Amino acid sequence: MVVPNDYPEFLHWLPSNADVINFMRQRQLGEELVEKAEFIFQMDYNVLGRSADMTRFIYKCKATRILIDHHPNPDMLSHFRFSDTNVSSTCELLYCIMKRWDFQLIDLDIATCLYTGVMADTGSFCYRSASAQTFVVAAELMRYGIDREGIYDRIYDNYSENRMRLMGYCLNEKMEIFPEYRTGLVSLNLEEQKRYGFVIGDTEGFVNLPLSIKGIRFSAFFLEKEDKTKMSFRSKGEFSVNDFSRKHYDGGGHVNAAGGDSKIPINDLIQQFRELLPMYEKELNDE
Ligand code: 5GP
Repeated sequence: MVVPNDYPEFLHWLPSNADVINFMRQRQLGEELVEKAEFIFQMDYNVLGRSADMTRFIYKCKATRILIDHHPNPDMLSHFRFSDTNVSSTCELLYCIMKRWDFQLIDLDIATCLYTGVMADTGSFCYRSASAQTFVVAAELMRYGIDREGIYDRIYDNYSENRMRLMGYCLNEKMEIFPEYRTGLVSLNLEEQKRYGFVIGDTEGFVNLPLSIKGIRFSAFFLEKEDKTKMSFRSKGEFSVNDFSRKHYDGGGHVNAAGGDSKIPINDLIQQFRELLPMYEKELNDE
């Protein structure tokens, strides 16, 4: 298992985490693995560029590539493609594929990982992407004896004090609400992140905060990084943040959850975002 870069610490408890190769930190080993691979399973992304520095190695490797994904508009070459935008999560799809191939493949550790993926991608089974099948998959995974409560606790109740205070700061000082566009925006620059001892994963879920306000349908979160600003978008209902993100930021994702990035300075980017909103006034007020 090779990941392109760091992932949040609240996932480090997952079984076999120690075997995961981080391409950014274990570059040579990562390159060797990609180069020698007979098969590469490309999981949970639809544009090759999302594999960051791994992209060019995957591009030129000789392996048979198999895409397993649930994002709309998959846009990369693969020899085989299991792509279903109707499933809640790649983990749900993977469970269905594994079940068909060989039920014996799944054990408690795998069930734990799959359940965690389904739970996290469906907002604990609340988003509209969670279907009847999602609940059936969750029920079947429970039969492996997974620690459902423990999984929830390790994902959602495992944050640092800094993270909670950073969230308080965002809500108090950094949240802008545009009631006429049913939109909320939160942003953090590098200096603010430093002030609160930011580590990767600390802002997970911040994009959802404005959506808890009555009437808000569209929410954006801007996080400044050293070389770019990362944007996350969420919506409720029909407003497609996938379309929004593709159109304005060359990003992508799903109808209700998408992202993108830009090298434009964060303050200019935020101003541009504010200026885009009137264009969507009707759409955002339609429901
Ligand atoms: P998040 O906001 O949690 O980073 O991402 C939400 C969704 O948007 C995920 O499905 C993710 O794959 C997708 N996404 C985030 N950033 C980008 C991006 O820069 N490009 C594309 N194509 N998809 C993105």
